[in-house]
Amino acid sequence: MNSKRIDQLTVDGEKMIPQYFLDISPDAMLILDSEGWILRVSEKAEKLFGYSREELIDQSVDILIPEELRKHHQSHRRKYMADPNSRHMGSGVDFTGLRKDGSRFFADISLNPMTMESVTMVIASIRDITRRVEVQSLLGKKVAQLEAITEIGLAISSTRDIDGLLRLIVEQAVEFVGAESCAVLLPDNDTGELVFRAAIDDIVGMRIPAGEGVVSRVLQSGKPEVVNDVSNAENHYPKIAEQSNLPTRSLLVVPLLIDGKSIGTLTAVNKIDGDFTEADYELLVTLASYAATSLHNTQLYDQVQQYARELGAEVAKRTEALRESQNALKQRNLELNRLYRASETLFSASAPILKEVAETIVKTILVEFGKSNCSLLVAGPGKNEIKRVAVFGPYADEVSKGILKLDGHGLVPRTFRFGEVVNIPDVRKEPDYAPNWKAGRSELAIPLKIGGQVIGVIDVQSKEINAFDHNDERLMGIFAERAALVLENVRLFEEIQCLATTDELTGIHNRRQLFDLGRIEIERACRYGHPLSAIMLDIDFFKKVNDTYGHGVGDQVLRALAQECLDSIREIDILGRYGGEEFAFVLPETGQSEAYVTAERLQKRIEDKSFKTTHGELTLTISLGVAETTEETSDLATLLDHADSALYAAKQAGRNCVKVSE
Ligand code: GH3
Ligand code: MG
Ligand code: MG
Repeated sequence: MNSKRIDQLTVDGEKMIPQYFLDISPDAMLILDSEGWILRVSEKAEKLFGYSREELIDQSVDILIPEELRKHHQSHRRKYMADPNSRHMGSGVDFTGLRKDGSRFFADISLNPMTMESVTMVIASIRDITRRVEVQSLLGKKVAQLEAITEIGLAISSTRDIDGLLRLIVEQAVEFVGAESCAVLLPDNDTGELVFRAAIDDIVGMRIPAGEGVVSRVLQSGKPEVVNDVSNAENHYPKIAEQSNLPTRSLLVVPLLIDGKSIGTLTAVNKIDGDFTEADYELLVTLASYAATSLHNTQLYDQVQQYARELGAEVAKRTEALRESQNALKQRNLELNRLYRASETLFSASAPILKEVAETIVKTILVEFGKSNCSLLVAGPGKNEIKRVAVFGPYADEVSKGILKLDGHGLVPRTFRFGEVVNIPDVRKEPDYAPNWKAGRSELAIPLKIGGQVIGVIDVQSKEINAFDHNDERLMGIFAERAALVLENVRLFEEIQCLATTDELTGIHNRRQLFDLGRIEIERACRYGHPLSAIMLDIDFFKKVNDTYGHGVGDQVLRALAQECLDSIREIDILGRYGGEEFAFVLPETGQSEAYVTAERLQKRIEDKSFKTTHGELTLTISLGVAETTEETSDLATLLDHADSALYAAKQAGRNCVKVSE
């Protein structure tokens, strides 16, 4: 059937298939007869195949099919014509079209049978799907790439095997970019060389000298470079190609960037099917960012690990420090307890008597600090002298107790003079050491100070070398501060005590003390039935001395007379100033006749003495009255009254004599 014939065909008397019917279809349309002759051609079909309508009509459809596919098409077409309901060729069948210019395109073809007046024809709608096929293939590739990239992304977050990861990245790069080889290069920070860290070829570890090659340039600039022909490239480094047996023809180098700073490169070598494209570049940039991220992550991970290690070490260190400070605290607590106990012992010392307090101090030191010997020294008795008032310890007997010179040799005088702690680890090596204990090896002398003034020294000795450490110095120092306070209190107490009981002018007991001490003695004498006597003394014509030489000279004479009286009595006798120029003696264990002898001896002694005064030497006499306790005179006041009466009698008798109470 030819194309003219179709015009004569009608369906139900209507002429069919006008040209516009074909042209309004969105697809290219052909009408073929059962033999494959082209009867009609739409405008879109002309455009699609590049033929004019005239060139196609009454031609075999084979003209539009590549030669190798014609037979295949024919057989299908025939099968379809024989049974139009078969599925050999219906709608949506793939078809490869051949244009007039010889180019090919992919199409989707659908065939619809049409019978007019028993003539069967085929309407073919052809849709060019080249673009779709291209897009699909591209999409497929992209999906594969995305899958690979996702895989790399997952690997980055889950693996710490950085070399495995970089290897995966170069493998993917090779596959997707279609290169012969690919590599990650990182700089060696010491030499500036670029080192192959991961590569497809066996070139891992190879080095490119600092500044050489396109890779170095990219590393420095941080900008990717595409070199499609290295023979023209500036600064190409061909040696690697020689070593790796891969002559480089083209290169795509992208930097590995972290915060805009390039830390290495990802390099693709030799695009297999031509030049590197924009898509290759984009893909490599993505992979490079992965490589950079994973390197950075690894770095961070290592840093975190390092930090964790350091933190662990720091925690351990701090725990240790804490333990140490806890121990120190415990130790300090013990020390405080020691000091507290020691201070308590000190402040609860029974009597405010220097010797007793000094003994408490040295004993406390030995109990709390456990050294060999401890002494306490204070100033006196002479001006330039130091005396040991207490010595205690297992070797106290071996310690010499002589008086020291303040300006002499030795550690104690030195401490006294300078008011500073002296700690000698080995006294045998100390030139200034003045030996006072043969077995002594180390010694610690601590000043006892009040208001910056040294009032004494605590001298601790040990048989051991180096027995005193800094802590001993510190603790005993604190203890010494308290000890000094206690000693000072004792001194003040003694001073007040002295003021209250001593006659200021003569230094002997005052009247009150005379009565206090005398009463004790008289009670004891009465209790045991022992004898006791009293003597009253009055200077003869003393008024004259005052009147002639002045009161000052009178005072000098009074002082000298008191001293003479003291010198002529026993230790147990009590001498006091009774009033004015009258003195009283209480003589325990002494009967009247013995007392008389004492009085007379004194009377003679004074008579013979010449008193040195600022007005020259004076002589004087005294009168004395003696009385002994009896049943009736068992109280001191009465006894002294009796002695006074005897004194009066002596005055009456012409003075410078002794009278006994009747
Ligand atoms: P006599 O006892 O021999 O009868 O004559 P007297 O001149 O000593 O007389 P009396 O004992 O009454 O004199 C006391 C004098 O002693 C009066 C006073 O001037 C003097 N006197 C008393 N106390 C002190 C004193 O503390 N210092 C001085 N310088 N003189 C004193
Ligand atoms: Mg008198
Ligand atoms: Mg007198």
